[in-house]
Amino acid sequence: MSTGTLRKNELIYEGKAKKVFATEHPDLIIQEFKDDATAFNAQKKGQIRNKGVINNELSAHLFEYLETFGVRTHFVEKISEREMICKKLDIIRIEVVMRNVAAGSLVKRFGMREGTELPIPVAELYYKNDALGDPLMNDEHAVVLNLATLEEVTLLKQTAWKINAILREYFLSKGLKLVDFKLEFGRHDGLILVGDEISPDTCRLWDLETNKKLDKDRFRFDLGDVEEAYLEVRNRLLGSPANA
Ligand code: UDP
Repeated sequence: MSTGTLRKNELIYEGKAKKVFATEHPDLIIQEFKDDATAFNAQKKGQIRNKGVINNELSAHLFEYLETFGVRTHFVEKISEREMICKKLDIIRIEVVMRNVAAGSLVKRFGMREGTELPIPVAELYYKNDALGDPLMNDEHAVVLNLATLEEVTLLKQTAWKINAILREYFLSKGLKLVDFKLEFGRHDGLILVGDEISPDTCRLWDLETNKKLDKDRFRFDLGDVEEAYLEVRNRLLGSPANA
């Protein structure tokens, strides 16, 4: 497929961290990564300098990496600093969170101590619904809410487990602990593909030695060094830029 000359058409969706544009190809969209950051269901708003550039690079890299293990994603091609071409998905309104270490809402909900290694990974489903605040749900809830069939939900969870195994190992090799992360999926041509992004906006990543948080928690909780943390993850995965 030649995508080199693909033109950006109208804006079809603007989210918290990205804009999505139609293209002249009905099956392809352009995803543009912004520096805008939000947390706590958009109650906290701000900007993280260069986040869009870094998340575009990291997402492209991680999608390509996953594809080498046979994981199908919506990623087609990175075309500029902040833009990637992706397959157009019929989005499934389920967020799948995978956890290896207790943090965030797991700590709040169950009173676990932050940093506790989980004996097995935990997959959680959330109903992607801003008005309801993305509530936690189980497989049957997803089916009765008409979000997916039971077979599809099972496939989403299996895929999330597989991605977790791949990425956990990969981040470990870069001196990073994959604490937890969120995935989104969509339907395309009879297949279910991984969509959205995989970046420090959607993953918790801690330095293996010091447990320093290198992800959006630095923004959420005003921990400082936010830009530096995103850049640190970028440089560990992709190497320092030649002109740095
Ligand atoms: N996450 C996300 N988008 C969301 C909710 C969660 O990317 O709308 C990611 C989050 O960055 C973390 C993981 O999913 O890596 C688990 O998030 P958690 O349930 O702990 O909620 P949080 O504390 O982030 O609100």
